[in-house]
Amino acid sequence: MNISAKWTRRGFMTGISSLTAMILGARKLPASNASSPVIDGAVKGFGQTGNVYEELGVTTVINGQGTMTMLGGSLMRPEVESVMALAGQHFVNIPELEVAAGKRIAEMLKLPADYSALVTSGAAAAMLSGLAGILTKDNPQFIRQLPDLTGMKSEVIIQKSHRNAFDHQLRATGIRLVEVVDRDDLRKAVNEKTAMMHFTNFANAAGQIKVEEWAKFGKEYRVPTFIDAAADTPPVSHLWDYATMGYDLIAFSGGKAIRGPQCAGLLVGRKDLVSYALLNNSPHEDTLGRSQKVGKEEIVGMVKALECYLQEDHEALNKEWQHRLEVVSSEVSKVPGVTTKFFVPDIANHVPHMEIRWDKRISATPKEINAALRKGKPAIVLSTGEEGEVLSLNSFMLQPGEDRIIANAVAAVLKAHAA
Ligand SMILES: *Cc1c(COP(=O)(O)O)cnc(C)c1O
Repeated sequence: MNISAKWTRRGFMTGISSLTAMILGARKLPASNASSPVIDGAVKGFGQTGNVYEELGVTTVINGQGTMTMLGGSLMRPEVESVMALAGQHFVNIPELEVAAGKRIAEMLKLPADYSALVTSGAAAAMLSGLAGILTKDNPQFIRQLPDLTGMKSEVIIQKSHRNAFDHQLRATGIRLVEVVDRDDLRKAVNEKTAMMHFTNFANAAGQIKVEEWAKFGKEYRVPTFIDAAADTPPVSHLWDYATMGYDLIAFSGGKAIRGPQCAGLLVGRKDLVSYALLNNSPHEDTLGRSQKVGKEEIVGMVKALECYLQEDHEALNKEWQHRLEVVSSEVSKVPGVTTKFFVPDIANHVPHMEIRWDKRISATPKEINAALRKGKPAIVLSTGEEGEVLSLNSFMLQPGEDRIIANAVAAVLKAHAA
């Protein structure tokens, strides 16, 4: 399979122009209709140069960090953009579309018979409406009342080492997070106020209770379990593994490695809980999740993104990603004092990564090197670790040729700081 062909700008533009032709054809608009605001307004003016960011004075960056929401997540597949444009041509009843798309997704992912799926505005949104649904069920009064929990359960159990920035979405429902460290704590923490047991998948290694056992405890204590697996594909099998493991609700990002719409995510779970989540979400008004709007375009785009993702040759992609890092490695290793090391995180962004380290011969910190790359032309963004201790990168969001650009730029910046 030729991977790079899928990623070319030209392939993308061809897709777009044939799509434009298709839409114009479908609407039977004469191309020279001077009175049409569609023709005169949309086609001329903004976007004419092909780089909308440059037109706004914002610098685009070469992304060696991966699927970071701060950098725009991932680049949508052209196939996804095409179906989103098609979705934009009609009105539909959104809850009906959500249910139908969820059914299609459940079939594609071969989920257990009592499982379904819901397209949300992201994994974070899936966490909020998933928990809201557990709390309210289909009680309209409770749905209107959130985050006032009067009459509802009010606690969610989480391992202390699993606390992270995204548990804000859980707290937004009004619940209190109850932290536990070991199995004994967990047993004591479960009570009649316990609504849910939350698991943060990337923290699996840090917690005493591991992913399978957490789901088993949920069954034993009759408490619904939720797993945040937002960035945990690849491998693709994770899309169904946690359902098979017994998790009641599972959240994935649509706009990360799946390369769906940036403002989309997936809540997979037990049919009843997924339907309660939808009741707490846009388009329904007077709900906590009304601010997490999902458009018809995102819903349809997510179906297509998953279809493409399931058909992709993941082994070939992995090889390509590793090869790109080797291109960078062989160039930067030529600078005296510089060494590289490859690694693959066990969970969350389970793709080839590379560290670049150097000895005293180069008088700059990883942060200084990264800052210099960010100021370069083209601008490049790599990672420097939480403490700024090491320069690292991954290559799964790179476009063709960008591995070479990074290789030359990093080598040049390191050389400029050589004694
Ligand atoms: C990215 C991420 C989220 C949020 O996902 P969105 O799709 O951006 O809402 C939640 N949890 C973890 C662990 C993540 O990595």
